[in-house]
Amino acid sequence: MTPAAHPAPETGSATHCDLCRGGNQELLFRGSDRLFGIEGEFSLLRCQDCGLVFVSPRPGFEEMSRYYPQEDYDLYNKAAGLKDRSIEELGRLFGPRKGRIDVYKKPGRLLDIGFGDGSFLYFMKQCGWDVAGVDFNKKMVELVKRAGIDAVAGQLEDAGFRDGEFDVVTLWGVLEHVQSPRQTIEEINRITGEQALLVIYTQNAAAPEARLLGRDWFIYEVPRHLYSFDPGSLARLLATGGFCVSEIVYETPLYYEQMNWQYFKQRRLGRRNDVVHNPTIVDRLIVKALSLYRKAVNGRKWSPAMTVYAVKRQADEAGGRHRAVAAGRSTASSSVAAGGEVGHGAA
Ligand SMILES: [Zn+2]
Repeated sequence: MTPAAHPAPETGSATHCDLCRGGNQELLFRGSDRLFGIEGEFSLLRCQDCGLVFVSPRPGFEEMSRYYPQEDYDLYNKAAGLKDRSIEELGRLFGPRKGRIDVYKKPGRLLDIGFGDGSFLYFMKQCGWDVAGVDFNKKMVELVKRAGIDAVAGQLEDAGFRDGEFDVVTLWGVLEHVQSPRQTIEEINRITGEQALLVIYTQNAAAPEARLLGRDWFIYEVPRHLYSFDPGSLARLLATGGFCVSEIVYETPLYYEQMNWQYFKQRRLGRRNDVVHNPTIVDRLIVKALSLYRKAVNGRKWSPAMTVYAVKRQADEAGGRHRAVAAGRSTASSSVAAGGEVGHGAA
């Protein structure tokens, strides 16, 4: 992909960068919905000032519902059966997430934004956390409420949470879907207390496959992924809400590699079978080869997915932010790009 210069149109805030407000963008490509084939063409732009990647023109919140056409029955069934799921089963799924959060915080009040089937919230509630969630899917909100969870339908900004209400806020694969990440982070700043922990799982646009595959990178999913971040743009965004990155845990899900191959094959070879659920022998061989690549990059800063842990600091504490982000260190289970002097366990 050779990005072409793309002058910003004169009007429309959607063509200005949500993060730095800059108007200098390069066009990565023009594309349309590949998952459901829904009509509409969008440009994917990269801000030349801060590196944020975003969809333009950006469909509004109401219009976006058009691009989530399928009722996710699997998710629905999971939400309906929340109370039947054993703590052991949930522990296997969410134990690692909870373990990482425990390093920073004792049980307190936790908000999950875009909670999906609600199982993470349900698990944290069983572990002694006072939990709340917000999600745009009204049906899911009703089901999750029946499991005794404080859940609100809509966007975060409409939920009306109190100032300083939360100790921990999590977004698992959600920030790339919100209308304005900057507004979301500002609102999270308002509803969290001092030393609050913010945990964000999202994709890493600095992964080499983003550049190699371009429009065939499964993660550049226009228009549902309205934004794509890299560690630098995400740290900069978090800083606008007073959050300082403490660590980044990188990972390379096998599913990403399967979908990358599927998209590449569809466009460049014209083959359309489902690699994840119905792979051919060739698919299996290629996914096997890709999993060698996966092993090599998994947990390193070239991984296509990252979980960022950020702690809210007072303005006078945030002076060392830049140095902290650049300093690298490693742990046994993760590659930590953004070291810092976080008070681990300080609750
Ligand atoms: Zn920018």
